[in-house]
Amino acid sequence: MEIVNSVKDLKNYLAKEKLHGQRIGFVPTMGALHEGHLSLVRHCLAENDICVTSIFVNPTQFNDKNDLDAYPRTPEKDCLLLESAGCHCLFAPSGEEMYPEPDTRVFDFGLIGKVMEGRYRPGHFNGVAQIVSKLFEAVGADRAYFGEKDFQQIAVIREMVRQMDMPVQIVACPILREADGLAMSSRNQRLTGEQRQKAPLIAQTLKESLNFVPDKTVQEVRDFVVHRLNSEALLSVEYFEIVDGYTLMPVDNWRETTYPVGCIAVFCGKVRLIDNIMYKN
Ligand code: AMP
Repeated sequence: MEIVNSVKDLKNYLAKEKLHGQRIGFVPTMGALHEGHLSLVRHCLAENDICVTSIFVNPTQFNDKNDLDAYPRTPEKDCLLLESAGCHCLFAPSGEEMYPEPDTRVFDFGLIGKVMEGRYRPGHFNGVAQIVSKLFEAVGADRAYFGEKDFQQIAVIREMVRQMDMPVQIVACPILREADGLAMSSRNQRLTGEQRQKAPLIAQTLKESLNFVPDKTVQEVRDFVVHRLNSEALLSVEYFEIVDGYTLMPVDNWRETTYPVGCIAVFCGKVRLIDNIMYKN
């Protein structure tokens, strides 16, 4: 596996591959890799000749400095995992490399960027767009792979690509879960033993709520999920919204959408976990 730390070296490496007509796939990550990330790498390898993975903990998308400082970093293990998954190139830039000067760009994704994560993590998606647009420019991939765990992020990236007219196809990949249902996340490493035991209730409750559709109303399903999770002392729901999966607008009635998705953010102690589920109506 080629490991490069500068945009210049990355472009040099990829220029040779592109010259030979190789299709380039790209998997952006913040490291502390797990099977969820590796599943994106595998999707990428299946559909492209070259897989580039980036690892960069992007400071501009953290609205909470403590969250940034506490973000897990496991660079040696990440390298081994990527190597054994068959990734061709790891791009691991420094902060100075990605932000030689402050990025003052302000994006506007309309309501897609303002609801849910946009509302509770102000500035988060602006930071995501700053780094992903820089990474897309550096890699020049044919396709880029994102996990549906970050459901709203995919909608934001698609909107960014549309607005900036970028020649990259965005591919959404399914959520990978632990055996007990907990969505895999780098943040799971920060859970204490007791919190780790309770965290699967999030996914289990979402799954259980599938049974109530369409007999119960959207409001009843919302209340069920929120009350069930908040009744567990270690969990605190920040938001649970049932939205149209295309527009991300909250729905009040199952008939309003053909693609209802429940998106949730829950604090488990100080660790903020997100998950989502698609309802069939
Ligand atoms: P992160 O390193 O958390 O920024 O995630 C990098 C990419 O991996 C994003 O596209 C995430 O949506 C994706 N990802 C994270 N966790 C999972 C998971 N459990 N299943 C599938 N994709 C995931």
